[in-house]
Amino acid sequence: MDISGFTKTTLLDYPGRIAATLFLGGCNFRCPFCHNSSLVLAPGEGPSYPLEDILYFLKKRRGILEGVCISGGEPTLNPGLRSLCESIKALGYPIKLDTNGTNPGLLQELAGEHLIDHIAMDIKSPPAHYAKLAGVEDAALDKIDRSVQWLLSDPLPYEFRTTVVRELHTEEDLIQISKWIAGAAQYFLQAYRDSPQVMQRGYSACSKEEMGHYLRSVRLLIPSAQLRGVD
Ligand code: SF4
Repeated sequence: MDISGFTKTTLLDYPGRIAATLFLGGCNFRCPFCHNSSLVLAPGEGPSYPLEDILYFLKKRRGILEGVCISGGEPTLNPGLRSLCESIKALGYPIKLDTNGTNPGLLQELAGEHLIDHIAMDIKSPPAHYAKLAGVEDAALDKIDRSVQWLLSDPLPYEFRTTVVRELHTEEDLIQISKWIAGAAQYFLQAYRDSPQVMQRGYSACSKEEMGHYLRSVRLLIPSAQLRGVD
C-alpha cells in the first residue's frame, strides 16, 4: 500500500504518547480549510514511503515510541487499512486513527477487533452546514451521526475536534455542535492555521480572545472542552 507521508516522532498527534504518524492519501471530502490538500487532491503524486521500511523503523523503535497515529486524508477509504493496523499491532503498538467519521461500520469493526485504540473524529460544523464545510454535495451526514452516536457510547478512548475558521464558523455554530455532541468525553476547538497547502486560500484564524469566548459557550454543554493550538 502507498503511505503518502511519515512523521518519525511527534508529541502532538497521539495524546500523552510519543508517536510516529503515517498519512494515507485520498479523501471523500474537500474541506476548503483542509491543510493537507495535496494528500487529498493528488494522493499518488507526492512522495511514497515503502510499508516495509516503515514497519522496520517501527520495529527498531519499540521501547522508544509509545504509539502510532494513522492520519490522512481519510484513512478509512484505504482498502489496506485493516492489514496496516494488523501489522502495526503485531509490533505491539497502540494505534490512534484520525477520521472524518464517514465510515462508522469500519470504525466499529476495527475497534471490535482491537485493531485501533483511540479515535480522533473531526466535527466540521453543525449538521445543517455540513456539506458546505466538507466541500461536497453530500456529506453523508447520516453516517457521520452514526459515528458520533457510537463514540458517545464510549466504546474506546476518543476525541471530537473542530478546526475553527473565522470566515466559516460562528458562535452559534459552535453552540449547535456542542448540543449535537453533548456528553463528549473530549472535545477540542482547534485553531486554524494558514499555509500554502490549504485547499482554498483566504481564511484566517480567530483571535485568542475569540477562541476563549467560544470555549466558554461550548463548556456550558461540554465542561471538559479545551482549546488546542491557540497561542
Ligand atoms: S480536512 Fe480532513 S476530511 Fe477535510 S478534506 Fe482534508 S483530509 Fe479530508
